[in-house]
Amino acid sequence: MAEVKFINVVKEFEDERKGKVRAVNDANFTVKDKEFLVFVGPSGCGKTTSLRMIAGLERQSSGDIYIGNRLVNKVHPKDRDIAMVFQDYALYPHMTIKENLAFGLKNLKTPKAEIEKKINEAAAILSIENLLDRKPRELSGGQKQRIAVGRAIVRNPSVFLFDEPLSNLDAKLRVQMRVELSELHKRLGATVIYVTHDQVEAMTLGQRIVVMNQGEIQQIAAPEELYENPNNMFVAGFIGSPPMNFIKCRLDGNKLIAADCTFTIPSEKLEKYKKYQGKEVILGIRPEDILSTNLLSYQPETNIVQRTLKVVEHLGAELLFYFSVGDDQVTGRVSADAKLTGLTKVELFFNLEKMHLFDPT
Ligand code: ADP
Ligand code: MG
Repeated sequence: MAEVKFINVVKEFEDERKGKVRAVNDANFTVKDKEFLVFVGPSGCGKTTSLRMIAGLERQSSGDIYIGNRLVNKVHPKDRDIAMVFQDYALYPHMTIKENLAFGLKNLKTPKAEIEKKINEAAAILSIENLLDRKPRELSGGQKQRIAVGRAIVRNPSVFLFDEPLSNLDAKLRVQMRVELSELHKRLGATVIYVTHDQVEAMTLGQRIVVMNQGEIQQIAAPEELYENPNNMFVAGFIGSPPMNFIKCRLDGNKLIAADCTFTIPSEKLEKYKKYQGKEVILGIRPEDILSTNLLSYQPETNIVQRTLKVVEHLGAELLFYFSVGDDQVTGRVSADAKLTGLTKVELFFNLEKMHLFDPT
């Protein structure tokens, strides 16, 4: 099995209209052996390009890529011991499922009996035994997806590369396949590098997550760590739904002064953020850290704000509510027990034990 390492990897494309496009800018990371690592970021941030460089389908402009302990800069894709699953499944339409699964192995000159054995094993793991004689057009999206994964499994690679494999499935099937992919990872004991633009998918699948934006790695961390300690405003706003609220403030002593309310910040936060003393800052607070005081069993002495709610949305067990602080729109999330309704005045507690401060951009 294998770890994957990027050292100062840069990829530039020559675009006819835009000139030089830097798709990946100086990427450095190590995917550990048997790790499930997820790349996440908005469309165009360089995820697919990173994956294609690992696969050898794209050659980096500079920097080194290692798979295992082997420098693979000049190694042909088929000799890299990887298998890639594409977003559009890339099945051959004229071949049966069995022929699709066998195709890569035949190319590697695998003996016929062994091909048969591997296909049967993969088919059992993925519960696709009854599909082997069909053609791709006779399968549903979810079934095609399984075949695409099966085609990777039969290769028995050290590293699996997945490029948004679930994005063409409906929401329910996506959740089901997410669970299956996690189980599959444990079962195969292989390194998995998985690309998605969906932060929920990233948070649920990844043992660690690489957050990218505009070709740059923003942070590499475990899901809880990304959520609790985002490196910057991009990560803070990208991970979590609804996203973290950002409120323009000024830090003055232990007071955070927003347009029309003042907060008192806890002493340990004061120490952490002392570089912002006397400056304009952005307060970051997650929706679940803004609580309706009617749910609290105690009366906080500070950080209570009276607001008129603009809208309240019912999500079953939870409510989302919207209000403003100065020009900033703010979202809160509470248990439905709070029984909030729109256009009413409520008392809200901002739990600043959970706050973050960021540089204004
Ligand atoms: P993602 O997978 O995160 O959506 P990509 O890796 O596909 O992003 O693309 C990253 C950037 O590189 C984008 O700006 C994209 O337009 C550009 N890019 C990707 N492939 C090419 C190419 N073959 N030629 C020119 N530009 C490309
Ligand atoms: Mg992509």
